[in-house]
This record gives sequence, structure tokens and C-alpha cells, in this order.
Amino acid sequence: MSNTEVLHEADDNEKKSLNFLEQIIEADLPHVSKIITRFPPEPNGYLHIGHAKSICLNFGLAQQYGGQCNLRFDDTNPTKEDIEYVDSIKEDVRWLGFNWGTNEFYASDYFQQLYDWAVLLIKKGNAYVCHMTAEEVSESRGTPTVPGKESPYRNRSVEENLDLFARMKNGEFKEGECMLRAKIDMASPNMHMRDPIMYRIRYAHHHKTGDAWCIYPMYDFAHGQSDFIEGITHSICTLEFEVHRPLYEWFLNHIAEPGQIRPKQREFARLNLTYTVMSKRKLLQLVEEKHVSGWDDPRMPTISGLRRRGFTPESVRNFAEKVGVSKRENIIDVALLEHCIREDLNKTAPRVMAVLQPLKVVITNYPEGKTEILQGKINPEDEQSGYRDIPFGRELYIEQSDFMEDAPKKFFRLSPGNEVRLKYAYIIKCENVIKDSQGNITEIHCTYDPDTKSGSGTEASQRKVKGTLHWVPVHAALSATVRLYDRLFMVEDPMDVAEGHDFLEHINPHSLEEVPALLEPSVADAQAGFRCQFERTGYFCVDKDSSNGSLIFNKTVGLKDSWAKIQK
Ligand code: ATP
Ligand code: MG
Repeated sequence: MSNTEVLHEADDNEKKSLNFLEQIIEADLPHVSKIITRFPPEPNGYLHIGHAKSICLNFGLAQQYGGQCNLRFDDTNPTKEDIEYVDSIKEDVRWLGFNWGTNEFYASDYFQQLYDWAVLLIKKGNAYVCHMTAEEVSESRGTPTVPGKESPYRNRSVEENLDLFARMKNGEFKEGECMLRAKIDMASPNMHMRDPIMYRIRYAHHHKTGDAWCIYPMYDFAHGQSDFIEGITHSICTLEFEVHRPLYEWFLNHIAEPGQIRPKQREFARLNLTYTVMSKRKLLQLVEEKHVSGWDDPRMPTISGLRRRGFTPESVRNFAEKVGVSKRENIIDVALLEHCIREDLNKTAPRVMAVLQPLKVVITNYPEGKTEILQGKINPEDEQSGYRDIPFGRELYIEQSDFMEDAPKKFFRLSPGNEVRLKYAYIIKCENVIKDSQGNITEIHCTYDPDTKSGSGTEASQRKVKGTLHWVPVHAALSATVRLYDRLFMVEDPMDVAEGHDFLEHINPHSLEEVPALLEPSVADAQAGFRCQFERTGYFCVDKDSSNGSLIFNKTVGLKDSWAKIQK
């Protein structure tokens, strides 16, 4: 049994038992008319593979239980957010294969409601305007073991608070001059309950509300209520929000009517990947400081980067399925992600022969001027895929690494006196090595056996030799550029840095290498996004930088599957 089969079996077993979120939802099913989840990105960057996990989870659960999943932009911070991000997020969710229909919402749609609720909290004596600076507030907050200090503005009257808050909204204060805080408990063991900030002043243009507001709710005063407004039944978050949950519940306790359905928040461990940074802030830094070419640089763990690299939506969804959901922090081997794309492309990608480091072979007994068209299976894994035409002639290119002059015994590729099969073609034998005056090999002279043509049905065509090489005909070779990628970071955990050091020090200086390549002509008309396998080399995808007549290929992943090996 192959390694991949072992994997499938494990998957099937896992499917039989419900994960903890499914268990919670199934227990709640009798009490709700419809399961409603949401994917709530903040539009302050492009989505990454961690978000993909959250998207698959939220949309997946809604599909599974006949419910609905909203796409909600948590756009409460106008200084960091942008419409470019909104558009990219929508494109990425769609590309992953999910559809939110008309359920596209924005926390900014609720700004008036949130403001009204803030006023309600003031009236109830549960919120106050505070004139401390942000630094003073954080200093006065104490530590988990030392209670914080109460603000001197904490006990002002409701009337005064209402007046000040209205003036905040009307633009009568400067940024940072005051803020609205919830009046909860400065001694709470949960730091988030120590009179958290609800509103701050920001004279910033908002991508949706323009200049209508100069006060903006904090994420914590918007997120839970937005879920509540939308009737979200299950608010699925990453673990870091577990400690925010009591605060979200406190707010809802003060604004919801008895009997109204409250969202049930449950937390799962965020996806971490080896050799990868996953924080949007760090990814933004990589983009802004030009360590990569952009958010969609094929080395980035962004969805747009993976797409450009050649990943398929199926492979990303499959990956999300395989990593599953857990309640404990963990780190996933990036080799699993690579395994998923390999597994998918093996089944679907057309095969192409491409030579990256050419060495010329002349078949001396093949008639000069003669050419012929040979047939290659488009994809041996797919019986329906058919055949492609591959021109053959007297002069060919093979990979330099497929030839050795002084070959050790176990070298089954081409060497003097040795035979190999040219894939889809003939068996050739190396007769002579031609060198220039400096002793560099310039070409290899071979002879071929005309009876050994692949698929010709002759006895000689069945003859087995140890090595099979890919090749490209000189007369019909297509020139292209290939971008070879290595991991962007050299260490498993790039964020693990000593004091005074920076994750950027772990950047791999050799993560991109651009090389010329020669291809069989079957891909001459390939368009950006076209994925194929370069036989014996790996999977490649045509980049959007390609122009007519000059193809650029990104290497998606090599053929060697280290993850399947780990599973042995
Ligand atoms: P980052 O920390 O990478 O900057 P974020 O949490 O600030 O991301 P949001 O836009 O707030 O980004 O995230 C939208 C949703 O995606 C949230 O529900 C969040 O919990 C989830 N999410 C973010 N990162 C991951 C991850 N690594 N694994 C799983 N889910 C994630
Ligand atoms: Mg966030």
C-alpha cells in the first residue's frame, strides 16, 4: 500500500467522528432554526492560508448543516483598512469556492447602532468618557496579579458623560484627548474587563462611511455585537479570543433583550505552518520593505500568492480538511500543504517535457533533416486525457545532470557506452563526448536503435533499459523562463528570534532563482494560470508576468514528497 493510500484511510476514519465544533453545533441544532456562521476579516491585508482554514471551516459548517455563512468585514479601524483589501478578500473567498450570496456585511454598517448602544450603556451608568492618554490607560491597567487603578473620570455623572460623548462625536476634541470606556472592574483577573476602551477619536477617512464619523468603535465593542445583529448562531474564532469572550458577553448582557438569541462563541487553534510567518502585520512588512514582489508573490503564504504559485482551490480545501480543528496550539509541517497540491496536480496536470540546464545530444545515425512527430500521454493518471504531439529530430537537449562522463556504477542515466530510453521515443547509446578547447563538454554524440520506438509494438520497443530521460527537440524547442522557489525562511519558526533580533534575519536569500528553460512546443499557447508537470522535475504554473511569446513559469512544487515519506 502506498503512503497516500495510508493517508486516505486515516482521513476516512477521522470523518466518522465529529470534531468538537460539529459536536457543539449538533447539540444546538434542535434549538435553532438555522445555523448561521460568518467569516469576519478585517480588511487590512490580504488573506493567508490561516484565513483559508477559517473560511473552509465557517463556510463548510454552514454547508454541512444547511445554514448560511456571512462574509463580514470587521472594518472598525480606518487608518489601516483599504478597499483594495476588501476586493482581494472577496476574490480569494470566491476562488476558494465559497459563495456568500447577498450576505455581505460590514461592521461599519452598524456604526449608528453601535453608537446608540454606547449611549445606552452611558445611560445605564456602564460607560464613561475618560481623558487619560492611551499610555496612561495601559499603565493604570495593572498586571494579571496586580489590580489596576481606577480612572479619575470614572464616576462622573451620566449627564456629563452623555454630553461629552456627543461632543466627541461632533468633533469637538482632538485625537487622543478623550475616549469612551466601559465601566466594569479594574480589579478583574481578566485584563480585558478592566474598563476597556469602547470608542476612540480618529479623524480618518473610512473606505465605506467616508468622513461621517470621527469616533470609531474598538474591535471589541463591534465584533460581538455585529455577530448579534446578524443573528450568528455560532461565532467561531481563534483561541486568542477566548479571553475576550467574557467582555463580549458583558456587552451583550447590557444591550440584548431577554430571550434574544446570542451568538455562541467557540475557539479553535489558529493554523501555524513551519517556515512561514502568518501575521498580516509581518506579511505587510515583507511587502512594504520589498522583501517580496507583492502580496501575491508566489513565496507568500497568502491565498493570492498560493494561487499565483499554482495551487488549486481543491488542494487548499483539502489541506484545511486534513489539518482539522483542534483546541490546542500546534504547528503544521508545510510539507503537508505541498503534499496536498502534489496529490491534486498529479491527477490533473498535463505532462510536459522541459529542460532547465540543456546539454545537446546529436543522434549521428538519424538522418539529417528528418523529423517526426511522436505521441506522449497528456496525463498517465487520467485515461481520458489523450495524447500530445512531440516533435523529434536529430538534435535534442537533455539535462546536464542526466549525463556523466565518469559515472559510478549506480548511475543509470546517460554515460559513455551506456543506453537510456528517451521518453516517448527511442533507446539511444552514448558513443562520444565532444569538448571545447577548455575541456568543457559541448555535446554528446549518440546512436539510436530505430526498432525501439515507444509504442510501436515491436519486440525491441518493449526492451527495458534502466534509465528514461526527458528531452526537448532542438528544432522545435520553446524558450521560456522558469522561476524556481525555495522557502522564504530558512528556519522552521521564523518568529523565534533572540532579543534584539528580527524575523527578517531568517529570510532565505536564495528563495528565488530565475533560469531559462527549453520546452516541448505543446505548451506554446499556454495562458497565465495554466498548470502542468515538467516530467521528472515538478509542477509548474504560467505566471501572469508572461507576455505573448515569452512564457514565464513558476515552480509550484517538486515531485519529491517528503511528507508522504514522514508518514511511513
Ligand atoms: P493575523 O493575526 O494573521 O493578522 P487576524 O486574526 O488579525 O490575522 P482577521 O482579519 O481578524 O485577521 O481574521 C479573520 C478571521 O480569520 C478571524 O476569525 C480569525 O480568527 C481567522 N484567522 C486569522 N488567522 C488565522 C489562522 N492562522 N488560522 C485560522 N484562522 C485564522
Ligand atoms: Mg484580527
